[in-house]
Amino acid sequence: MRFPRLAAVAAATALVLAGCGSSEKTVDQQPQSSDGALVGVTMPTRSSERWIHDGDNIKKALEDKGYKVDLQYAENDIPTQANQLENQITKDARLLIIASIDGTAITTQLQRAADADIPVIAYDRLIRNSPNVDYYASFDNFKVGVQQATSLLTGLKVLGADGSAGPAKGPLNVELFAGSPDDNNATFFFDGAMSVLQPHIDKGTLVVKSGQTDFRTIAILRWDPATAQKRMEDLLTASYGGARVDGVLSPYDGLSIGILSALKSGGYGTADQPYPVVTGQDAEVASVKSIIAGEQYSTIHKDTRELAKVAVDMADAVLRGDKPEINNDKDYDNGEKVVPSFLLEPVIVDKSNYQKVLVDSGYYTADQLR
Ligand code: BGC
Repeated sequence: MRFPRLAAVAAATALVLAGCGSSEKTVDQQPQSSDGALVGVTMPTRSSERWIHDGDNIKKALEDKGYKVDLQYAENDIPTQANQLENQITKDARLLIIASIDGTAITTQLQRAADADIPVIAYDRLIRNSPNVDYYASFDNFKVGVQQATSLLTGLKVLGADGSAGPAKGPLNVELFAGSPDDNNATFFFDGAMSVLQPHIDKGTLVVKSGQTDFRTIAILRWDPATAQKRMEDLLTASYGGARVDGVLSPYDGLSIGILSALKSGGYGTADQPYPVVTGQDAEVASVKSIIAGEQYSTIHKDTRELAKVAVDMADAVLRGDKPEINNDKDYDNGEKVVPSFLLEPVIVDKSNYQKVLVDSGYYTADQLR
């Protein structure tokens, strides 16, 4: 590993110049103090609440540990994020925490970081196709997908609340949405969800009337709510003349809002024609309110306070020359290496437990959800 950055470069250089043959890395050197070091933090966008929470939580936790922080948002624009990383490297950031927009598009910046001995922590989204990713802090993303599909089945009563077989035998009409194809997480969510849904599709309990079940076909670029809304409108027009949609697998609350709005325009959301079971992710305020109002069925809560803490503890350990705690060293192969990871546990939230999971835990106040 390349870090911690070493201070005694002059001494090492002197030894090399003296012809002793030792390389810089093998000379006994003291780590440069990390006190007050600058940490670069790049988040994808402010258009989704969760990233605002993530950014705020990481900044605060780093500052509490005495670091300086450069926190940047790129509004889902890849060149902007690349520039922000370049700037942080130029400003002499000592470590980078990156939630990437396109997990394959910042290889050049990561090489520059590596050349300058700056370690990189991939935050929430794995950065792909680069050997220069040192650690990964995230949730169990496959499990997120499993939970989304499980709550879809619970909402449809194919499963009972305890996970055993429920009363509904189908056929029930469902449509599937996936996240952004350039976000490594999107595939994990989809694979997790399909591991639960495919057997029910094969048995005929669930029917995807559009026939659209392939990841590439159902993926929504940059997780854009308007694109999801348009796709749902098109699905209703093309496949649901005279038929009802019973459930929609949605991988993110922002998409769920777009999907529910298309459903509303299509005549759903009334006493005669209630909304289908619609899932989500991130427990964003608007969606939790929608769950309380009986519109969206469920979401997946990923406690961004915990994730920020994991990433900041990792950063702190790395900067001090210690080994960060990891709990997974097999699942996140980025195409170049298996990135040592710490994965947190996601939680299904619906009307029955939002109070306990989101309010009693202090994640939101009751007022925020009114
Ligand atoms: C995150 C999700 C989020 C999605 C859209 C994913 O990478 O893991 O929590 O819903 O991006 O922002």
